[in-house]
Amino acid sequence: MDKIKAIEEYNSKIKRVLISEEEIKAAIKEAGKKISDSYNGEPILLVSILNGAFVFMADLCREITVPCEIAFMCAKSYYNGTNSSGIVNITMDLEQDISGYHVIIVEDIVDTGRTLNDVVKLLKARNPLSLRVVTLLDKPSRRIVDFDPDMSLFVIEDLFVIGYGLDCGEYYRNLPYIAEYNQ
Ligand code: 5GP
Repeated sequence: MDKIKAIEEYNSKIKRVLISEEEIKAAIKEAGKKISDSYNGEPILLVSILNGAFVFMADLCREITVPCEIAFMCAKSYYNGTNSSGIVNITMDLEQDISGYHVIIVEDIVDTGRTLNDVVKLLKARNPLSLRVVTLLDKPSRRIVDFDPDMSLFVIEDLFVIGYGLDCGEYYRNLPYIAEYNQ
C-alpha cells in the first residue's frame, strides 16, 4: 500500500468524535478536584494500568493539587472460555510496598470488568490504607463480572472506541479525543 492510501485507510477508521478534547479536559478537572478534596494531606499513590491509561494519568495527576505519588503497572488477565480464571499476569509490577498508601487505580476503560476485578483483588491483598478505582470510560452494558468503579468520568454505549490512550492495533493512542472506531 502506498503512503497516501495507508493514511486514508488510517483516517477512514475514525468514524466520529464521541468525546471532545474540551469535554475530557473539563471532566478531568472536576475529577482532580474531587480527589484533591477527599484525600487532602493523606499519602496517595496513583496507579495507572498501562498502556491505555497513560494519557489519562498524565492529565489527571496534573489536576490533583495535593501531594501524590505515581506508579505504573502492566496487567493481563487470562480466561478459560468466557470465565475468568482469576489469574492476573503482572507483566510489570509496582515497586513499592503499598500498605502505607491510599491507592487510586487510574484506568482507561472498564469493559467486561475482568481485568480490574482481578487487579483490585491482587492489590487489596497487599493491604493498602484504602483502594479506589477511577476510570475515564465505563461500558456497563458489557459487564461480565460484578465490578463497579468508584468514579467513571464518562459512561458510554457498547462501542469500540479509540484515542486518548486507547488503541486499535497500537495505533490511535495519540488522538487527543475519544472517537468511535469504524469496524
Ligand atoms: P475488561 O477486562 O474490562 O474487559 O477490559 C479492559 C481493557 O480492554 C481496557 O483496559 C482496554 O485495554 C480494553 N478495551 C475494552 N474496551 C475497549 C474499547 O472500546 N476500545 C479499546 N481501544 N480498548 C478497549
